[in-house]
Amino acid sequence: MPRRFGFYFHSLTFWICVAIVAAVVLAVLFPRVAMATEIGGELFLRALRMLVVPLVFTSVLCGVLALGDVRRLGKPGAYAVLYYLLTTVVAVLLGITLVNLIRPGSGTVPSERMEEFGGQNARTTKRQIINHLARATDLPAADIAEVMQPLPDGQPLSPQIRDIARGLSLMLVSDNLLAAAVRNELLPIILFAMVLGGVLTTIPQQVQTLTAVIQQANEVMMRLVLLLMKLAPLGIFCLVAARFGTAQYEDQLLTELRQIGWYFATVVGGLAIHGCVVLPALYWLVTKRNPFRFAVGLSRALLTAFSTASSTATLPLTIQASMSAGVSREATEFVVPLGATINMDGTALYEAVAVLFIAQALGIPMGLEQQWIIALTATLAAIGAAGIPEAGLVTMLIVLGAVGLPVEYIGLILSVDWLVDRFRTAINCWGDAIGAAVVDRLAIGGDHRNPPSVASHGPQS
Ligand code: ASP
Repeated sequence: MPRRFGFYFHSLTFWICVAIVAAVVLAVLFPRVAMATEIGGELFLRALRMLVVPLVFTSVLCGVLALGDVRRLGKPGAYAVLYYLLTTVVAVLLGITLVNLIRPGSGTVPSERMEEFGGQNARTTKRQIINHLARATDLPAADIAEVMQPLPDGQPLSPQIRDIARGLSLMLVSDNLLAAAVRNELLPIILFAMVLGGVLTTIPQQVQTLTAVIQQANEVMMRLVLLLMKLAPLGIFCLVAARFGTAQYEDQLLTELRQIGWYFATVVGGLAIHGCVVLPALYWLVTKRNPFRFAVGLSRALLTAFSTASSTATLPLTIQASMSAGVSREATEFVVPLGATINMDGTALYEAVAVLFIAQALGIPMGLEQQWIIALTATLAAIGAAGIPEAGLVTMLIVLGAVGLPVEYIGLILSVDWLVDRFRTAINCWGDAIGAAVVDRLAIGGDHRNPPSVASHGPQS
């Protein structure tokens, strides 16, 4: 066998691709059989999620410890936040431009079908939306109802921006770290790990043993990730087969896509431009390296993001793949976990497109001022979205509310959201990895060339 072909044949990415194609074929031909693989996917997802909290805690601590001094965190921290904000705003503006040019909503939904979504059955539909979101996100239905309750039937809620900002700042700190861990709320854990790491660096002599324990624990967590990655093709096969099998069995995907195909094309097209042009260009400008080679290095994480629709569940792989693609440990361990929770370019772009699509479908004109409100709230809503399946749909309710669109109308995009979610999650993870590389180059001075020790044990892309 030629050497080159042998490389692809042995690579994890190759087998993940095979798994995805095989799963889609199985789902199309034998949907009921495909649906029966659901348990395998759920087990894989749970195993990934199980690693997230301990891995985030040890890796953020190690990232800060590797910097050596808490004062050295200021520059990379500022660059990271700047990068998150800049790329999210660019993604939102790109989405708004595309949706105004393509106008996917105009005339897509025949007026007689509108009755189904709004009008008299509004209340029932609201309940259906809550049930759908609770099922997709695993969040308690009461929490989602709480988001929906104050949202209007027709009244703009501009003061909400202040409320969103308040909610976002409260997300940073928890009064109970264990409760945050139980709920997989990563921001308080990251903040605590940063402060703890900072304190440890001020008394290095006294905490040598503790520092060694943290570093060893992190190394062990990375080994567990590598172990789990060996099961990735199987887990991904089950996840994709079960979800596509359900769609095929219910026989609604193609019908819905025919109806709102232009909406789907606008979101996926926007994500493609952001992921294949904007982010690679930024990567190239800053690091002067080939972004497509970096994408190949990240491919197993991106495919896992597509399959799980969860950037939190993919986080262990994004950390591992970024390091083996040459980003320094310091940058990866601190920028990627933070990015997985607050940097969601794909979600921001999608929220802007979806809200304007709904307005277009309803024939409600959105002026410049309202489009600015959408841009601002979509940016904040994406920062606040959790890295779990369809969380973007929950926070999109806030954007709808901010411009006075009735929330019932998300029924228009509900049935294809699980598919759109996979594309936006992959872009979210891609943005996190590029962010780590950019911060590495600009603020840590990494040459982004020498993979650290853990990479040498990792499987090839
Ligand atoms: N599923 C996405 C993520 O985990 C969030 C979203 O629904 O947009 O990144």
